Amino acid sequence: MATVTVWNILNDHAGEVGDLLLGTCCAGCGGVGRGVCDTCASHFWAQPRQVATACGVPVFALAEYSAPLDQVLIAHKERANWQLATPLGARLAAAIQLLQADQQRIEVVPVPSSATAIRQRGYDHSHALARAAIRTIAPRFDNSLRVVRRLTRDSPVSDQSAMDRTDRWLNQSGTMRARAGAHPLVVIDDICTTGATLHEAVHRLQGAGCQVIGCAVLAHTPNSASPAVGPDGWR
Ligand SMILES: [Zn+2]
Repeated sequence: MATVTVWNILNDHAGEVGDLLLGTCCAGCGGVGRGVCDTCASHFWAQPRQVATACGVPVFALAEYSAPLDQVLIAHKERANWQLATPLGARLAAAIQLLQADQQRIEVVPVPSSATAIRQRGYDHSHALARAAIRTIAPRFDNSLRVVRRLTRDSPVSDQSAMDRTDRWLNQSGTMRARAGAHPLVVIDDICTTGATLHEAVHRLQGAGCQVIGCAVLAHTPNSASPAVGPDGWR
């Protein structure tokens, strides 16, 4: 049975709550528009594209991580702009459905933020994205698609915005812990920069015996393929 919490209800009505609290200007350009205006939204690709990473599973993205969408994703993640979860989750849904294909039942597993980051932001952005995505695919409760927190952060991650590729991989290595599950799953996140975070997630889930179909992200940084050899020899 689905668990209904105040938090989930707020997330499910993020657009309406966001309008009340934040008004209706576009997070990408500041112009008129609820959440993301049509001009900024046109920077999303029409279809998900598979991008090159060293995760060992297919990774699909919906856009290049560049202006103006970078401002949208920053507003959603760093400024807890709840109203963006619905339009962004709707975009992510296309990539999840592509990966789901003919699988009878899958889980959508958000990449976890640390408890400290969630507390500071007041918002769990990847979990909100996952829930918004499955609401797009199945507006009513559908047992074939569930958001499951199979990953937790085992240790904190340093701010990696200024780190180079190799340091990002070292920074992510060994930071997550996974819970085993019986159903195939898709890992989701907002951005893939070097692939280090997704690799850590996939690596831990597979180590726990999970079947990872692939990953879905909103945006990726061009040339985001990971180093030829990762910190502990991964390729
Ligand atoms: Zn805009």
